[in-house]
Amino acid sequence: MRILVTGAAGFLGSHLCDRLLAEGHTVVGMDNFITGSPDNIAHLAGNERFTFYRHDVSNYIFVPAKVDAVMHFASPASPNPKSPYGYFNLPIQTMKAGALGTHNTLGVAKAHGAKFLLASTSEIYGDPTVHPQTEDYPGNVDTIGTRAVYDEAKRFAEALTMAYHRYHNIDTRIVRIFNTYGPRMDLEDGRALPNFLKQALLGQPLTIYGRGDQTRSFCYVDDLIDGIVRLLYSDEHLPVNIGNALEMTILEFAQAINRITGNQAGETFLADERSARDPQRRQPDITRAKTILGWEPKVDLDEGIKRTIPYFKEKLGL
Ligand code: NAD
Ligand code: UDP
Repeated sequence: MRILVTGAAGFLGSHLCDRLLAEGHTVVGMDNFITGSPDNIAHLAGNERFTFYRHDVSNYIFVPAKVDAVMHFASPASPNPKSPYGYFNLPIQTMKAGALGTHNTLGVAKAHGAKFLLASTSEIYGDPTVHPQTEDYPGNVDTIGTRAVYDEAKRFAEALTMAYHRYHNIDTRIVRIFNTYGPRMDLEDGRALPNFLKQALLGQPLTIYGRGDQTRSFCYVDDLIDGIVRLLYSDEHLPVNIGNALEMTILEFAQAINRITGNQAGETFLADERSARDPQRRQPDITRAKTILGWEPKVDLDEGIKRTIPYFKEKLGL
């Protein structure tokens, strides 16, 4: 297939390009570098099956030759209020990438008769009242809350994707991605893994926001991309959760990173760092992914962190 990947210079998008190329597909990457980096795709320069367009997907998208699939990953994704790369500080761009960007990429799929896959998120469940989160749980989201620019854009994107499927008969997929980590994460974007691993490798205490009793479930990037590619190849039009089902508190996660890296500096607790609407519990129910895609994660936390360390060391000059 010839596949358009938006957000190709980002963390997930660049791994997706690598995997699609390894499978023999031709990839058209698109990105405006608002939160991603050319470094993430520099190794693809010279690959005759990879082309790249610097373009903002919120504007009309023109793709010269036919594409068989469109995978829409372009969007700021970090919830850190202090990061210049987080969606708090890119609120309009985030809403435009989710709304206008989804409309434009669906338009490409319609014009080319191509499959379409939307990168959605566990954030559409908000601060969930159902645990673990199944795909039929509609979510607990505040339309004007601090995370709303991201959550509501993705909820709109899902609704628009289903509208194109139901009304225009486009062959669509929706993946709801849960917290994912691995090489090429932006060290400065303020998410838990980049903060913790950077701090641990520098021998600093890990910054726990609040008491650290909020939970997350962390998936290694190769596992996630495998699930997404299986979804692309499937016939499933309804949303599918992809993530690691191993739930842990953020304190347990930090302690695991200190153990794996041998960091002796422990943890420090910052009371007000991430206040309102930090979801308290998050764990995917991955029954649908197991049943429909025959997928489940294979890389455990120790192995995933060990595979991520060399990239962080290189970026930190260690
Ligand atoms: P990222 O910031 O590393 O990648 C996003 C990429 O999209 C960046 O390269 C950025 O420059 C590009 N982009 C943003 N707006 C654009 C626009 N208007 N036009 C063109 N390019 C644009 O983030 P990521 O973690 O790789 O996330 C990729 C996708 O996966 C996002 O849609 C995100 O919502 C989703 N997601 C990620 C996670 C995760 O844990 N990493 C979890 C849930 C959902
Ligand atoms: N977190 C933390 N310390 C940090 C960064 C994040 O305790 O230095 C917490 C954050 O408050 C949240 C969890 O880790 O409860 C996961 O945050 P992340 O930014 O990775 O993504 P989220 O799951 O909130 O979208």
